[in-house]
Amino acid sequence: MMKNDLSVFNEYESEVRSYVRGFPTVFHQAKGYKLWDLDGKEYVDFFSGAGALNYGHNDDNMKEKLLAYIQEDGVTHSLDMATKAKGEFIDAFQNIILKPRDMDYKIMFPGPTGANSVESALKLARKVTGRTNVVSFTNGFHGMTIGALSVTGNKFKRNGAGMPLSNTSVLPYDKFLKESDNSVEYIENFLDNGGSGLDKPAAFIVETVQGEGGLNAASSEWLRSIEKICRERDIKLILDDVQAGVGRTGTFFSFEPAGIKPDFICLSKSIGGNGSPLAITLVAPEYDKFAPGEHNGTFRGNNFAFVTGTEALNYWKDDRLEKNVQQKSERIASFLDDMIKKHPEMKGVRKGRGFMQGIMSPIEDLCDNIAGRCFEHGLIMETAGADDEVFKLFPPITIDDEGLERGLSILQQAIEEVIA
Ligand code: PMP
Repeated sequence: MMKNDLSVFNEYESEVRSYVRGFPTVFHQAKGYKLWDLDGKEYVDFFSGAGALNYGHNDDNMKEKLLAYIQEDGVTHSLDMATKAKGEFIDAFQNIILKPRDMDYKIMFPGPTGANSVESALKLARKVTGRTNVVSFTNGFHGMTIGALSVTGNKFKRNGAGMPLSNTSVLPYDKFLKESDNSVEYIENFLDNGGSGLDKPAAFIVETVQGEGGLNAASSEWLRSIEKICRERDIKLILDDVQAGVGRTGTFFSFEPAGIKPDFICLSKSIGGNGSPLAITLVAPEYDKFAPGEHNGTFRGNNFAFVTGTEALNYWKDDRLEKNVQQKSERIASFLDDMIKKHPEMKGVRKGRGFMQGIMSPIEDLCDNIAGRCFEHGLIMETAGADDEVFKLFPPITIDDEGLERGLSILQQAIEEVIA
């Protein structure tokens, strides 16, 4: 019987482990917005697996479908064979998500993670254009494989791999230029005036809200300008919706309010429904150009994730999640504004949109200290941004009023204790 201490992790996990999250307890069970550790202590989850648990933990319907599938000896691993579970997922995704939005895309299963989806889109964009350069944006994050990392703005992560950044350029994200309101002119100049010495790019890769990069939200207008820049120059637009997608900002795709039409869309995290690894890349039909075997992999179709992912799509048959996010994100925004007003010493600025909001503070370690204090009081929250200068509220999008208010009151207590 395992005890609630971290000795087994400390003793056997390598010194060079690359990922340490500072929650000093062993988690055991989870349901909805709640998590419990081995001592039975309850936590409110405002982290949601960094967006992999938008529907909360162990949703009853998904659990029931998964148990039934295991009970009937449903195929578990199938590589890229056709399975019933996969067919049902494709059918549901077309009929519940794509068709009602008048979106015409082929669905590709690029591998189990968000980075796999990004890699497949980068490869396809390069293949269909015959060009190699890719433009990405300040503070963007696209994954830890070398291709995805080379278009990631975060220098700490990029330098960790000693990346020679050939064939990529990081340009200013919306409002990242001090002297102007947006970066559109800068980008146009960069592309057109030859000063960059860069060959014409194959693609732009962009997030609508930078999840890891500090909850920077691009305006719809800026996104439309980026789309226009791409269209006018025959550059492909890759929309990385791995973190902001699947309802996190209120609509299924985060770019819906902007009304843009990317050439490639990357989805992962919550697309498997209950946290099981699954990724998809939506490919505009004319760019469905991989020859068989040109992009393959052992785990390109996780049947358990297809089963739970299909069930999850039922949430999108009506507008209950859209409404929940819309209504509660207003509550989150007004709570954060109140905190900023009440505690000017935080020098806080509210960031993000939908269920991707938080406060940025320039005060060193403030956000980390607040997240640490939240943990002590039973709220799981994380920080974001190049210097962890943003604390990030990421509740499941299914959360009810009681869960949200519980989390917010712990956060308020933590802020007041840290500021005092
Ligand atoms: N793109 C974005 C926008 C992400 O936030 C992430 C993960 N945080 C990734 C890609 C990479 O996904 P994964 O960790 O599953 O490879």
